[in-house]
Amino acid sequence: MELIRFYNVADGIVAGTTGRGVVGNGNSYSGFNICHYVGDKPNHTDACLHNLADILGLPIENIISPRQIHSDKVVVVSEIADFRNVEADALVTNLPDVAVGINTADCVPVLLADTADGIVAAIHAGWRGIVKGIIGKTVGIMSDLGACPAEIKAVIAPAICADCYEVGEDVATVFRDAGLDDCVDAHGARPHIDLPKAALIQLIVEGVAAENISVADDCTRCNPQRYFSARRLGIDSGRNFSFIYRKSSSTK
Ligand SMILES: [Zn+2]
Repeated sequence: MELIRFYNVADGIVAGTTGRGVVGNGNSYSGFNICHYVGDKPNHTDACLHNLADILGLPIENIISPRQIHSDKVVVVSEIADFRNVEADALVTNLPDVAVGINTADCVPVLLADTADGIVAAIHAGWRGIVKGIIGKTVGIMSDLGACPAEIKAVIAPAICADCYEVGEDVATVFRDAGLDDCVDAHGARPHIDLPKAALIQLIVEGVAAENISVADDCTRCNPQRYFSARRLGIDSGRNFSFIYRKSSSTK
C-alpha cells in the first residue's frame, strides 16, 4: 500500500496524509509515525521523519508540526524553526517549500491552500477544536495574510466516520449548541457525530466554496491496516500525518 495518500489540490501545491505503511503483527505504534509526543520511541519517530523528508525532497527542518492540545490556537510559521514543543492545533505559512502538518488518529485533518497568495494551512480539527471554531479562526488568519476565502482550496483528509464515532450525550449537546445539529445522529442507543461533515459545514460558513472542498471519505477506524485510529488502538498509538506545502518552483 502506498505510504502517502496525495491530494490533487492545485498546481504547485503538495498535500498528503501518511498511512501506517507496513504494519505486520506489530503494536499500536507499528508503521509510519512521526508524532514525537504520543509515547513512541524517539528513534522510530525520527527515522520516519527522515524517511518523509527523503520522499518529499525537503530538508527535515522544513517539515513543521506543533504539539497539539485540542485547542483553537493557530500559529503562523514565519520562519523555519523547531515547533515540536509549540502548543497549537493549526499552522499557517506563506513560506515556500515549508510543509506544515498535523498528526491525527480519528480527528479531522483539514488542509487549506490559497494559491494566488501562496498561503497554506494545516488544521487539527477534533470535536473540541471544531466547537471552539479552529477552522474559522484559521481561515481568518489566512485572510489577514491576504488570502481570499472564496479562492481557498480545501481537503478534508481521512478521519473517523459517523458510524464509528459514538459519543456521549454531553458531546452531542455541545454540537447542537454550536449549531451543528445536522452532524448529530441520535437515532441509535447512543448519539453519533459526523466530524468530517462538521468540518465541511464550517468551511462553507467561512466562505470557502463547496466546489473547492474535497472530502477524502476514508475512515481511519474502518481501515486499521491503512491508518492509526485512537478509537481502535487507544490513544497510546501512532498518528497519521497530514501536511501541505507550496513548491518554490511554482509561481506565486
Ligand atoms: Zn468508520
